[in-house]
Amino acid sequence: MNEPDCPWCWKMETIDEFGASDVIWRFPHSVALLGMWQFYQGYCVLVSRSHATELNDLPTDERRAYLDEMCLLAQALQTGYRPHKLNYELLGNQVPHLHWHLFPRYLDDPERMSAVWLGIDKAEREGGAWRRRMETGREERATTAAKIRQALQNLGAPQA
Ligand SMILES: [Zn+2]
Repeated sequence: MNEPDCPWCWKMETIDEFGASDVIWRFPHSVALLGMWQFYQGYCVLVSRSHATELNDLPTDERRAYLDEMCLLAQALQTGYRPHKLNYELLGNQVPHLHWHLFPRYLDDPERMSAVWLGIDKAEREGGAWRRRMETGREERATTAAKIRQALQNLGAPQA
């Protein structure tokens, strides 16, 4: 039930071509990817394997399983990074295929009371030093991906 013109459907079809720094975990109903804005150390995107626009469009069992997978990923981020707070965003205005953004927020973030998208929008518009700031984590991407993967392993997260 995939849509030919949907970039997330396309990525799910070709997921094996992406490396271990990008693909953190293959759950039965979703795939956890390491996001590009690692200023929010550990930022992940959890993409539904099925194409659906809204949560209520998924069959009940699939929706529950997808939400459970999101909670496992959240638990792994809490274990690995101990953020002040996790921000969960299910938007889809650009690509209407279910994908959760999980942004760990930290106390040393001077904009911690603002939505992440303000800083990300600035990075996309201005590029340069601000974009580098937003893309660069405190560690290498491969290290972050491995750390989250290990935490999921320890939690006994299901794999497909
Ligand atoms: Zn899709």
